[in-house]
Amino acid sequence: MSRDSSPVRATSRRPPARSPLQVAERVARVVRPEIREVSSYAVPKADGMIKLDAMENPYPLPASVRERLGAALARVAVNRYPDGGADAVRDALRRRLEIPAECGVLLGNGSDELIQIIASALAGEGATMLAPDPSFVMYRRSALIAGMHFVGVALKRDFSLDLPAMLEAIEREQPALIFIAYPNNPTGNLWPSRDVEAILSAATGLVVVDEAYYAFADASFLSAVGREPNLLVLRTVSKVGMAGMRLGYAVAVPEWIAELDKVRPPYNVNALTQAAALALLEDASWIAEQSAAIRAERTRLESALRRLTGTTVFPSQTNFVLVRVADASALFEALRARRILVKNLHGWHPLLAQCLRITVGTPEENDALLAACADLCR
Ligand code: PMP
Repeated sequence: MSRDSSPVRATSRRPPARSPLQVAERVARVVRPEIREVSSYAVPKADGMIKLDAMENPYPLPASVRERLGAALARVAVNRYPDGGADAVRDALRRRLEIPAECGVLLGNGSDELIQIIASALAGEGATMLAPDPSFVMYRRSALIAGMHFVGVALKRDFSLDLPAMLEAIEREQPALIFIAYPNNPTGNLWPSRDVEAILSAATGLVVVDEAYYAFADASFLSAVGREPNLLVLRTVSKVGMAGMRLGYAVAVPEWIAELDKVRPPYNVNALTQAAALALLEDASWIAEQSAAIRAERTRLESALRRLTGTTVFPSQTNFVLVRVADASALFEALRARRILVKNLHGWHPLLAQCLRITVGTPEENDALLAACADLCR
């Protein structure tokens, strides 16, 4: 045995032993208590399952679009940093959405990142974020991460917006930031536009109208951006077939965008995403066709779920359906045993008791779900 491989020497080269307790103490000393208290955002594994839990578009890319994507990705210079401003992608979005030239556009690694960027920029001493409750969970979490005070204003029992309560909370809290999911996740409904206008008039800070589900809804605030000085419209390509690409965008008057851009990490939209976005948005007809198919399936799913024993189906302007059943956890588990994954919202919020959120799938996937539900809900 050579001297170098002697057990004594090998041991002496190891870093000094750390007891887990010492590490835990150090972590507890420096990591903020409110961060230590929460758990990581859990994404369930769904290998081999019919996946109806995450509001994804169930359709693959059309073959011609896939070819265009492959060719575009092959040309990417991955040895270089991406264009920090992602100018070509922003121009493509401007053209596609007819965003007026006087409005600014900010891109994010998904709209999740933009939510965090907005919260970080507005999280001044004592600043408050306000949102209807229940709504998208990342609002509250981003407030926590940014160190902002969060105030949720309870929806009514039928999930409609309690406008007097919202206006009263705005008056009382003077929030720096309001998030309005339009339509709302996880309830699926769209607030009356006059309610959102009343909130815009009452608010003294920034109002984010989050239109993640715009493709499945009958209304939008995008064209109001230039007119409303405190409005930011947030969108994502995730629900229209590109969730894996991670691209979200914010549209507001340039004064807001200029400040938010200072918080954005320099290369937050990577070169592969930029190239993919340009290739995929070159022609948007496939997006419109798939979204129309999802809307039609949503109508079919809603009426079929309504016919089952003991269900209450809430009206949806999204690509998912919220349904209250007799025992949500039992149905969730029984569906999972049949390799169908939906979202169990029971326990999330008192108003969501016994509720499941079911993403609209392909016709075949929806048939499988409906057959299983008919069997299980007798
Ligand atoms: N806003 C709302 C209302 C959502 O439901 C979601 C996704 N669940 C997002 C934003 C985030 O979307 P992404 O990060 O994929 O762009």
